[in-house]
Amino acid sequence: MRALLRDLPIRRKLVVILMIATGGALFLAGAGLLTLDYFRFRREMVTDLTTLAEIVAQNTTAPLSFNFPEAAEETLAALGAKPSVLGASVYGKQGALFAKWAREGAKPDFPSRPGPEGFEFRRDSLALFEPVMLGDDRIGTVYVESSLTEISKRLRFRFLTMAGVFLASALAALALSANLQGLISRPVLHLSETARAVSERNDYSLRVEKQSADELGRLVDAFNQMLSQIEERDTELQSAKDDLELRVQARTRELRAANVELQQSNRELDDFAYIASHDLKEPLRGIHNYSMFLLEDYADKLDADGKSKLETLMRLTRRMEVLIDSLLQYSRLGRIDLNMEEVDLNEVLAEVLENLDVNFKSEQVEVSIPRPLPRVLGDRVQLGEIFHNLIVNGVKYNDSRPKRIEIGYEAGRPPVFYVRDNGIGIPDKHYDAIFRIFKRLHAREKYGGGTGAGLTIVKKIVERHNGSIRVESTPGEGTTFHFTLAKGDSLAAQPTDPARRGQS
Ligand code: ADP
Repeated sequence: MRALLRDLPIRRKLVVILMIATGGALFLAGAGLLTLDYFRFRREMVTDLTTLAEIVAQNTTAPLSFNFPEAAEETLAALGAKPSVLGASVYGKQGALFAKWAREGAKPDFPSRPGPEGFEFRRDSLALFEPVMLGDDRIGTVYVESSLTEISKRLRFRFLTMAGVFLASALAALALSANLQGLISRPVLHLSETARAVSERNDYSLRVEKQSADELGRLVDAFNQMLSQIEERDTELQSAKDDLELRVQARTRELRAANVELQQSNRELDDFAYIASHDLKEPLRGIHNYSMFLLEDYADKLDADGKSKLETLMRLTRRMEVLIDSLLQYSRLGRIDLNMEEVDLNEVLAEVLENLDVNFKSEQVEVSIPRPLPRVLGDRVQLGEIFHNLIVNGVKYNDSRPKRIEIGYEAGRPPVFYVRDNGIGIPDKHYDAIFRIFKRLHAREKYGGGTGAGLTIVKKIVERHNGSIRVESTPGEGTTFHFTLAKGDSLAAQPTDPARRGQS
């Protein structure tokens, strides 16, 4: 029953509950009334029949006293006026049947001898014995038998009336409950509809109208209050978000401006370095030339010490020139625009290796490229410079035989390229220093010399391509340089696929 009711809509549930309650009450009341009626009808019948029997008893004293059965039969026949009476008989003082009368068609169960005074309900009749008295003397007994159809007729009538009343009041209750259930169901439905609207539209400005001051009213109040709180928090959150957005925008503008400024000052710095180094080269060449003239023209006037000092001077000026050239190269990088194009790194690498091939033969260098490199967006010449510098370093700072160089990449967005060697390695405390211009970790002449600008230039090229570079090394085992040539998706590389190369 409960399970059946549970999933019904509230509106129906209320009507069903009200109907069950009123129906049950009416049924119980009806059943009680019918039971009461049944017993009352029986009592009334007994009273009626007793009265009749008493009358008959009085009217048969004379026929009994004078032994005149015909007169007694006449008296009995008068009972025919009462339709429920089936028959009656009279017995003498000794109990012998004296006279009897039976309704036509009826078969009363006349006892052969009178029973004890009083009534007895049988299956479908009521039987009654009444003494016939003459003064204090009992001179006989009257027996009357009545059918019970009267009772069932009256009960049936009662039942039908009650069923009518029951039906009418059930209908009235139905109408009433259908009407009144709204008192409870309407606010609940309203509440649930609003809750649905709130969750569907995320609109916390909705409110439920309060219709009563009972528990439902309090529920509505609590619900509205909850919505207000959410709305308030929502507004706060939104304004915090707006505020944050504004701040982010402002910060982005600032950063952009700073970036532009930085680029400008970088460029100015490059310009300055370029012009300065360019202008320095001329007097330097002069110093070099004049030292040479001195050595040639005054050879006979200089002693050995003087000559050696002049030779040192010339060596130093040559070195200074190399340094200035590196500076020129470095500053030129920042002054020229990148020539961005789709570049097949395999071609670039092949070119670089071809140029280095001469040196490699004598040095037992083994270069391996595990898989073809992808195509990238970049400046072909400068990308070649990256590989050139890294490969040269891998060979230069390497005591192993054979010297192994591996060039490859890990796919990703953007792909990460690497150049690995089995060289002398770099202690991790120098990881930052090696990218600083003119910074070398070794004595000037060791490992084939160098200016200390190579990695600085590599880093600059990588960064101009929006990429980054880092080093990973184990001293005595080898070094790997990892670098990217783009950030995020914008310069995402496609794998080199011979079939696709023709299409693009
Ligand atoms: P240079 O090679 O002209 O000295 P770089 O800028 O190319 O200048 O390198 C800076 C320093 O970093 C080098 O002097 C060397 O000590 C160290 N280095 C660079 N590459 C490697 C490498 N592959 N293995 C070990 N050390 C290296």
